[in-house]
Amino acid sequence: MADSALPLRPYGWLTSLAAARAFVGHVAAHPAVVARWPDPARPDRSLLAGLEVTDGRGRRSAASYIGRHAIALPVRYRMRWVALHECAHVIARALHGAEPGYAPHGAEFAGAYLALCGLVLGPDAHSRLAAAFRAEAVRVR
Ligand SMILES: [Zn+2]
Repeated sequence: MADSALPLRPYGWLTSLAAARAFVGHVAAHPAVVARWPDPARPDRSLLAGLEVTDGRGRRSAASYIGRHAIALPVRYRMRWVALHECAHVIARALHGAEPGYAPHGAEFAGAYLALCGLVLGPDAHSRLAAAFRAEAVRVR
């Protein structure tokens, strides 16, 4: 999908499960995402390739699954920033999840989330998130 065809209001709602899946598919295939986080088994695609997006039915919040290449986006969490947050969990866990002291919302996650926001949503989103992280003393790696 060409970038120009994307609905890139960064903080807007993904209005359906299909829209959420299309957004995550775009993120997974984004050339900058492939270049930054290639799948070691298939470097022509990203670690997010093939990521399943479930409707999150019965869940209280959005989530990324452990042991399953999937994220859950219940209706009230279908926003671009939430989808990117869950994608960042997938990336951070794949790259650092086996390291001692790894924390799900630790510096590795924050670094992936910040970079993902910059690559996918653009410099304004990156700057705003970086400022929020600085204000809250969030460590980024
Ligand atoms: Zn989280």
